[in-house]
Amino acid sequence: MRKKVIAGNWKMNLTLEEGVSLASEVVNMAKDELASDVTMVLCTPAIHMAAVSKLTAEVASVHVGAQNISEHESGAYTGDISADMALSTGAEFVIIGHSERREYHFETNAQLAARVELALAKGLTPLFCCGESLETREAGDHVSFVTKQLEESLYQLSAEQMEKVVIAYEPIWAIGTGVTASTEQAQEMHKSIREALASKFGAEVAEKISILYGGSMKPGNAPELLAQPDVDGGLIGGASLKSRDFIDIAK
Ligand code: PGA
Repeated sequence: MRKKVIAGNWKMNLTLEEGVSLASEVVNMAKDELASDVTMVLCTPAIHMAAVSKLTAEVASVHVGAQNISEHESGAYTGDISADMALSTGAEFVIIGHSERREYHFETNAQLAARVELALAKGLTPLFCCGESLETREAGDHVSFVTKQLEESLYQLSAEQMEKVVIAYEPIWAIGTGVTASTEQAQEMHKSIREALASKFGAEVAEKISILYGGSMKPGNAPELLAQPDVDGGLIGGASLKSRDFIDIAK
């Protein structure tokens, strides 16, 4: 059985006070309403992580994640967050390679490969993001584009390391746009991701890896997307800022 993961990506939203209040709502609802086989992750801004970790410590199924880490261990990298810093707040997950970071901060596949390795070495679970632009999809190159992202950032890992990675497929054209990939589009890509991983790391490893869908997931479209055989969860932006919607997706 693959792990079912529902991760919220708060992005650059909410003051500390607002974040703590949202997290405490999520924790309370999760306690009352959620089956224990769902792993929930709150990927908060870095300054919220320590306070939110204190709240999530109360419930086994809710965890904290960072939205990024540096590929460097420490040093003169103003504004960056290290893996050790993230861990010291209580975070257990980290988003790596979100399309917004790739676009606005020019993160490269090679840099992301180094971050995935560092996260694993330190004991953080990487939520590795991949996904194509609308232009790439319209040209029919989406599968080869995403496969290349996997090759260049994950194929250096051992099978043992790979098993610990969670993948999030997020078509860029579906992020924050209200347009969701159709269930067929999501399933097609998730299946090809799993096939690519199977040919590199073996079918047994590929079967164990959770592949999340991200891009305008909401309570209304989540059941259909999550019912696809290769969709093991979601990475949720906008809807994770509302406790009710976020919990309803997880339910
Ligand atoms: P969205 O964002 O749910 O607001 O589309 C998803 C993401 O960027 O992770």
